[in-house]
Amino acid sequence: MKILHPAQLNNFIERLAKAWEVRLPVLLPDGTRVIGSPGDGPPALHGGAVMGKPTSAFFPHHGTLFTSDGGKLEGPQNPDLPLFVLGFTPRDLACLRFIDRFFADGLCDDVYFRRRNNALVAGLSGLCGPGGIMIPPAGGGCDLEFFCDGSCWLVIPYSDGGREVSAGLSDPALPTSVELFRQAALSQPDEQEELLRRASELLRADRVPDHFWAEIGDRCIACTGCNLACPTCTCFGVQDWRSAQKTERSRMWDSCQLDGFMREASGHNPLGSEALRSRRRIHHKLAADPEKWGEISCFLCGRCDAVCPTGIGMVAVAREMVARFG
Ligand code: SF4
Ligand code: SF4
Repeated sequence: MKILHPAQLNNFIERLAKAWEVRLPVLLPDGTRVIGSPGDGPPALHGGAVMGKPTSAFFPHHGTLFTSDGGKLEGPQNPDLPLFVLGFTPRDLACLRFIDRFFADGLCDDVYFRRRNNALVAGLSGLCGPGGIMIPPAGGGCDLEFFCDGSCWLVIPYSDGGREVSAGLSDPALPTSVELFRQAALSQPDEQEELLRRASELLRADRVPDHFWAEIGDRCIACTGCNLACPTCTCFGVQDWRSAQKTERSRMWDSCQLDGFMREASGHNPLGSEALRSRRRIHHKLAADPEKWGEISCFLCGRCDAVCPTGIGMVAVAREMVARFG
């Protein structure tokens, strides 16, 4: 365990950037906090989860699948440097673990793993949540973790890659900081985890009536914010762009809240109403994914509840379901 003083952060990042394509929370000139490149703005590690989908480092909003030039196919280029991504909260790391499983299943998604393989992922925890609140540490599930003790960052490596990049940080961690880390790691599961578990049981027992989804669907304005922010939403659409020289096939994020999400060429739409689409968004994570993957695929990162303009994010809907039908 090492210590990184805030004044050393920029030097540490500059050193990393010689061997890695570095991404970390930065403050853009318009005040938005995103996971971006060091040149995009000053580091902004405090504030908890960034609002944008953190898994976009490996599954970007738009990405080339291949290009065809006179019948010659070319896949996307490998990144020049492997990625170093800092900024995953422990809940974001759980999301990343889930979509790693998803993209590795069956026909392994080589476009995803081009960026994911050899990447180093760094978690963020400690007294760096919104307003300085404590984010309990992940204690693993990443290559290294940056834990804020209130003034400095404890840097805890969990993999060989994590040990390598933190080797230059020679300051020993203070015993009081280490004790804070240990105590924070003992924190109890929160009330929202129990809420999701109960909502999942209700859905799997088919105890949530159709009229509930009609009410929720009436409140959805199909802005797609929930899906676009969610680290475990992996649906995408595919399109071809043709020019005189070549054709490019690319993929971009899709949203199950859009009318055309499942519409078939015949015009038939299995998700042809807002009620069905809203049910699908929640049911998929709380009932379908536990059947397929053995776990709920919402890890309570908080983004959909924060971005939904009409108050029907995951926790809000689960709370209403449990209150009315539990
Ligand atoms: S809280 Fe919302 S955005 Fe976050 S993982 Fe769950 S469903 Fe996705
Ligand atoms: S963020 Fe809310 S209003 Fe927008 S698509 Fe999602 S559920 Fe609907």
